[in-house]
Amino acid sequence: MDMRRKLVAGNWKMHGLKGDLPEIAAIAAAARANPGVDVALCPPFTLIEPAIAVAGGMPIGAQDVHDADKGAHTGCISAPMLVDLGATLTIVGHSERRADQHETSHDAWAKAAAARRHGLRVILCCGETEAERDAGRAERIVQSQIEKSLPDGAAPEWLTLAYEPRWAIGTGRTPTLDEIASIHAIARAKLRMMVGDAARGIRILYGGSVTGANAGAILAVDDVDGALVGGASLTAEKFVPIIEAAA
Ligand code: PEP
Repeated sequence: MDMRRKLVAGNWKMHGLKGDLPEIAAIAAAARANPGVDVALCPPFTLIEPAIAVAGGMPIGAQDVHDADKGAHTGCISAPMLVDLGATLTIVGHSERRADQHETSHDAWAKAAAARRHGLRVILCCGETEAERDAGRAERIVQSQIEKSLPDGAAPEWLTLAYEPRWAIGTGRTPTLDEIASIHAIARAKLRMMVGDAARGIRILYGGSVTGANAGAILAVDDVDGALVGGASLTAEKFVPIIEAAA
C-alpha cells in the first residue's frame, strides 16, 4: 500500500516580482482542483507574505533558512522570521546554494534542525554533480549527503527528501527512469538504516528539468513521491500540467 501522497513543490529561485502574484493565484487554484496531490510553492523571501495572501491555503515556503534564530548575520533570514511571515516550509541544501554559497551537508543538517525547531516542514536536497556521476560515484555521494544532512528525528510529517542531480537542474537533461529508480531505492534504503520504519512514509521527490512532458513518466517511477520543480514552476501554464500528472 502506498502511504505517501505525491507532493509537487515549486522553487522559484531568484525569480518573481509582485506582478507575478497572479501566477501564484492560478497555481493555487489548480492545487485546489487537484486535491489528490499536495502542492507547495517556494518563492523568493520578498514574495512570501504576498504569496500567502493569494495562495488560498496552499503552503508557501522559503528556499533557504539560517541555522541561528537571530544574530549578527547580515542579509540572512531565520526560521522564526519565516514562521512570523506565515511560511510553513523551507528548502535546505539546494545544489545552487551548495555551489554558490559553498554550503555543505552539515550546513543543511543545521538548517533543517533549525527549521524543525520552529515547526517548519523541510525539503532536504541531495544529488551528485556530473563529474561524480561520470566517476560512478552518484550512489555513494547521495548516501553520504543523506548521512551527513538528515536531521535528528526525521519523520514523514515534516521531512521530505529531494534527489536532484546537479547536472539535471535547469539543463533540460534528466537521468533515465532506471537511474532515477536506482538512486531513489538507494536513498530509501539509507533512510531505513537511519530512521527505521519512518523511512516508509518519508517522501522522496525527484528534481531536475521536470516538465509537463516528462512528469507523468518520472512520477510513475517506484519510490518517486513527487517533484521539486524550478523553471517549470514559474508559470501556471507550465506548472499545472505537472500538478495534474501527479494527481
Ligand atoms: C530546482 O531548482 O530545484 C530544479 C529542479 O530546477 P529545474 O526544474 O529548473 O531543473
